[in-house]
Amino acid sequence: MTDIARSTRVVRTRAELREALGGLPRPIGFVPTMGWLHVGHRSLMQRARAEDATTVVSIFVNPRQFGAPSDLEQYPRAEARDVEICAEEGVALVFAPAVEEVYPPGFDTTVSVGAVARPLEGAARPGHFEGVATVVAVLFNLVGAERAYFGRKDYQQLLVIRQMARDLAIATEVVGLPTVRAPDGLAVSSRNVHLSPAERVAAPVVHRALAGAVAAWQRGERSADALRRMMSDALAGEPLANPEYVSVADARTLRELEVVEAPALLSTAVRFGSTRLIDNEPLE
Ligand code: AMP
Repeated sequence: MTDIARSTRVVRTRAELREALGGLPRPIGFVPTMGWLHVGHRSLMQRARAEDATTVVSIFVNPRQFGAPSDLEQYPRAEARDVEICAEEGVALVFAPAVEEVYPPGFDTTVSVGAVARPLEGAARPGHFEGVATVVAVLFNLVGAERAYFGRKDYQQLLVIRQMARDLAIATEVVGLPTVRAPDGLAVSSRNVHLSPAERVAAPVVHRALAGAVAAWQRGERSADALRRMMSDALAGEPLANPEYVSVADARTLRELEVVEAPALLSTAVRFGSTRLIDNEPLE
């Protein structure tokens, strides 16, 4: 590990976290992650570092937000490298708990967010957002940060967490930040590591499909069905892409639209082999 890496403290228990937080200057900016850190995570840490006196990152692959056990097992992990990245980004504290530390024996509460959690990813991945809302509620309470930073790449997740924090009177402000992309447009994601070379070449079609619909909207297209069809057609042109859904929804409620008037969100989930990618673009 590098010299700077040593200035980042790694704690694993609730007690260690509490003790470490007591000595750190406020405000605290919190970046929850599942590790395998990349430039998308770095952008969140950089914003926290610019806005807050202390940056805290959590690294926790949350079993409750995975459906298939194989998906959880295959989720990539590289903690030592992650801690080095945190150190490079000036992170003071990394919370990397074991599963039993987050969910101690007897843990028996589920946080279930309503309407905004139901469509899209909520429909495609039953239980996913309950897992997300539950772990983020626990982490928010343990860290007690002034602000927490999330990527708009997981746009619905951002809305679900905002709703959860508001409804549960959690004082942490939820900040959403833009999606970081590779030069070819592919949204950076820990899951991209599972793409085969041919799938990696094909994957930018996801963003091209979204960008094509954004361009049509900018030219005046307001029919949501026309925009959905454009995205579907673009994805159909790539044999390795298996779309799960294409959506044109109200950006606040995620209800599907007929006519794009208010701020809207284009989003899609596409499988490449066993790898499932999601991406979105706002229309605003
Ligand atoms: P994850 O480790 O995948 O759970 O992601 C942790 C946080 O990083 C979430 O708030 C994600 O939305 C965010 N994130 C993941 N990928 C990106 C990206 N390409 N750009 C911006 N934020 C991202």
